[in-house]
This record gives sequence, structure tokens and C-alpha cells, in this order.
Amino acid sequence: MVTRRTFLARLGSGVAIVGFSSATGMWVSTAEADAATPFDRLPRLDGSLHFDVDTRMADSVDLGRVAKQLPLAVLKPGSVADIQKMVRFCGQHGIKVAMRGQGHSTQGQGLTSGLLIESRSLATIHSVGPQGADVDCGVLWREIVRAGLPQGLTVPLTTTYVGLSVGGTLSMGGFGARNDTGVQVDTVSKLQVVTGTGELVECSATQHRDLFEAALAGLGQCGLIVRATVRTVRAHQHARIYQFFYRDNTQFFADLRLLVDRGELDGVYNLFTLTNGTIPYQLNAMTFYDDGAQPDDAHLLRGISQPLSKATVVNCTYQEWAERYDPIIQRWRDTDDWDNLIKPWQDVIMPDSTVERYVGEVMPTMTPEDFGATGVGFVFRIRRSDLTRPFFRVPAPDGSDWVYLFDILTSSAKPGPDPAFARRMLDRNRRLFDRARELGGVRYPIGSLEFDRQDWQRHYGPMWPELVRRKRRYDPHNILTPGPGIFCPREM
Ligand SMILES: Cc1cc2nc3c(=O)[nH]c(=O)nc-3n(C[C@H](O)[C@H](O)[C@H](O)COP(=O)(O)OP(=O)(O)OC[C@H]3O[C@@H](n4cnc5c(N)ncnc54)[C@H](O)[C@@H]3O)c2cc1C
Repeated sequence: MVTRRTFLARLGSGVAIVGFSSATGMWVSTAEADAATPFDRLPRLDGSLHFDVDTRMADSVDLGRVAKQLPLAVLKPGSVADIQKMVRFCGQHGIKVAMRGQGHSTQGQGLTSGLLIESRSLATIHSVGPQGADVDCGVLWREIVRAGLPQGLTVPLTTTYVGLSVGGTLSMGGFGARNDTGVQVDTVSKLQVVTGTGELVECSATQHRDLFEAALAGLGQCGLIVRATVRTVRAHQHARIYQFFYRDNTQFFADLRLLVDRGELDGVYNLFTLTNGTIPYQLNAMTFYDDGAQPDDAHLLRGISQPLSKATVVNCTYQEWAERYDPIIQRWRDTDDWDNLIKPWQDVIMPDSTVERYVGEVMPTMTPEDFGATGVGFVFRIRRSDLTRPFFRVPAPDGSDWVYLFDILTSSAKPGPDPAFARRMLDRNRRLFDRARELGGVRYPIGSLEFDRQDWQRHYGPMWPELVRRKRRYDPHNILTPGPGIFCPREM
């Protein structure tokens, strides 16, 4: 008699697996293949399927270290066809499937007890040119930036940290420092998607539009993005960043609004960091420029509440600007064991009419514990009218063209499990989210928030019936991306 436990232990000892039995709900090894129990053989693959405990354990957690879910197997695909075959196989056996980019979401969004597909083994940049960057889902944004620069090209919007996967951020939305470009999903012109039935579909605004829309910021519910074409724009040679510090919420928002409304800078956002026990606002205003065309600092910053002499000014190349947070993350990895810190992140998108009040209420309640060893916070301001993807949810219209992402990216003070800290922070996040929702805010779903089906229904609002329709059409077995808990109870 093989129990699930002894069976899983044997998987760790390198037993060759040849198939799966729906009757037992377990993999079938070579030795068992001749037994009477019927099973289905695994398809032939270009890449590899891993059943060993070490590989599965490595993919059982994400960056948040809040959720844990051991996958039944890990696929390192050698081709898109591998993904199609395994999704079909899983559909036949009711096995859940999730794609993992860099695993940098923070509450199990990309975890599963079924088949975990690592997108990183599909990381080819097929082309970069004026017509766009055509890339596999496992490519990192940093790699696209580096591939485009020799031609003087870049993507319209990069995330703050560019070590994130294309498939991962396109499934979420993808905020960046720019105020006039929407989010990353608005910069995509074409996708290749594997649906929940294993079909490979090329889609765009004019071809299979319903799948294109459902995949972009679609939290992996209707399909797995395997390839994307992202628009490219001219890359300037240099960037200049002006940093000002604020203690006053009203003054900070007045200056942020003034600078962004004028539209002369290339990006303005806020960074909060814990500094000597306090958490000041750090306004970052940025302009790109080329050789021989120095920015006019005084003109760009005219009218704000602080003199130019108060600014910290940083000049760097475009690449240094795009990668500006990478060395910090690397240092945290090297010195703070960053990957093993608990990161219960809180992220909401607020309407213009209440953002100032909300941030002004929340920030004074923040303590050193809310930021921890490496915690930071952000405020990004973007235009509603640049947002084109229906499943990227923003607050209901309030008469203003602006919405704001407000992040509190908490980390624990030290690495290792601390269930009491995680619980406190999940409760805090729910409290902060409930207040945000009262004020018209919605969730940006990268963070750590306990959300039930009713919450998701409210999140999607008028788009909920449409999401349900597309889910039934493209993932009829309901196997894709269980982590967020939208169409099945969360497993963890
Ligand atoms: C240091 C840091 C900085 C960040 N900065 C920003 C920022 O500036 N702007 C911003 O918007 N976000 C930012 N994020 C959040 C980030 O967008 C999300 O954490 C995102 O999930 C990270 O991408 P990933 O490759 O790690 O995706 P994962 O966490 O691996 O995946 C995210 C979700 O998408 C699904 N998924 C992954 N790949 C695919 C695919 N190919 N097809 C379908 N579904 C897929 C997963 O199953 C999961 O549900 C940041 C995160 C970190 C850690």
C-alpha cells in the first residue's frame, strides 16, 4: 500500500515518473506502470518535469514568505508546446496549473498544489526594433532595456525594479515612474496565450480581443501569456533626478500635483523610507535628456514649495536610471537575507478625490515595525485616460483624470518564520484596505491581503460577469492560477 506520504518521499529519491492516475490522484512510477491501476502517460517534452522535493520546495513559496504551497511537480518548459501539452494533461486530470515568473508577488498568487510552470526557461528575446520588442514570458524587463539600448530604443514603461518577468507584471498591470503612459499592460500590442484547454492563441486588440483583454492584468485566470510584443520608444541618453523631502502631507501633494499637471517632467513619484525612526516623503522628479541639451532645472521645478537648492540632484545614464533600484535589492539580498524576510505588502489604488486624505491618515500610524528591515513605500500618479485594459481595475470615476497607487512594502525585521508578525500585518492590511475601499480605493493585487470571492466580485464590479464568461470560455476546467482565490477557495 503506497500512501501519499511514502509516495512523495519516494519522489524525492529520484524515482522515474511515467504518468498520472486519476483513480489515486498520484503520479505513477516506472515500477508501478505494469500494475492493474489504469493511468495516463505523461506527454513527451522538450524541457523537463521535476518531481524531486528540492525543486518543488523551492517553488513552494514566493517573495512574501507569507503563503506556502508545495506543487505536485515543476515544469521547466523547453518550448511553448510543452506548456500546451502539460496544460491539456492537467485539464484531463483536474490538476491546477500556475505559471511562475520571478515569484515576486507576496501572498501565493503564483503558487499551486498542482503543476508549477517556471517561465524563466522560456526567455528568448525574439527581436527588438522600432516595431516593438517581441519577447518570451520569462524575459526580465532589465533584459529588454539592455537589448534595446544599442539601437537607442526602450520600452515606454519599466517597473521600479527591473528584475521582474514580462509575464508576471503583465498579469498584474505594471506600474512605473511615468505619469503619462498608463501601466505596462497598456503598452502591449500582441500576445501569445496558452488557454486552459492548451490551445495556443495569438491575440491583440483586433484578433481574439476578448482573450487579449482577459490576459492583460488578468491574474492568469483565462490564459498563460507565453510571448508578448511590447511597444518601443526612443531612449534618451541620460536622466536627471531631483529629490525633495517633505514632512507635510498637504504640501507634498500640492507639489506632486503641480509638477505632474504641468506635464514637463518625464516622471514624478514618491518614495517613503524609514529614516532615523521617521518616514519622510521623498519626491522624485525626473527628466530625460540627451548630450548637448541640458535640462533647465529652475524652469522645470518652478512654483513648488521648496527652493531648488534643497534638491538632491542625480545625473545618470538611461540604463542606470532604469536599473536604479537593482543594486539596492542586490545589497539587501547580500546583507539582509532579503529573500527570507517576510513581506506582507499592502497596495491600493486610490481616486484623486480621497488619496490625500487617505495617505494623510495612514502615514502617521506607521511605526518602524510597519517598514521593518528593508520596507519602503511608494505613491505613483497615473492618468485614467491612458488605461485601456478592462481587467486592470481602478476606482470608480470621481470627475478627475488621475488615480494613485499607494504601496506600503513592509518587511520583517529579520529573516525566518514569524507567524505572529505575519498575522498582525495581514490584519493591518485588511484594516487599511477596508478604509481605502470606504474612500473609493481598489486593490492592486500584488500584495498580501486576505480576499474572498465576495471581495473579488466587488473588485471587478461591472466587469465580474464578463470575467466569469471569459473564464468559462478559456479555462473551462478551472485549472489556471488558483493562487488569488478568485474561482476557487485559496489553497493556502
Ligand atoms: C522589488 C520589487 C519591485 C517591484 N516594483 C514594481 C513596480 O514598480 N510596479 C509594479 O507594478 N509592480 C512592482 N512589483 C510587483 C510585481 O509586479 C509583482 O510582484 C509581480 O508579480 C512580479 O513579477 P514576477 O515575475 O515575480 O511574477 P510572479 O510573482 O511570478 O507572478 C505573478 C502572478 O502572475 C502569474 N503569472 C506569472 N507569469 C505568468 C504568465 N506568463 N502568464 C500568466 N500568468 C502569469 C503568476 O501565477 C502569479 O499569479 C515589484 C516587486 C518587487 C519584488
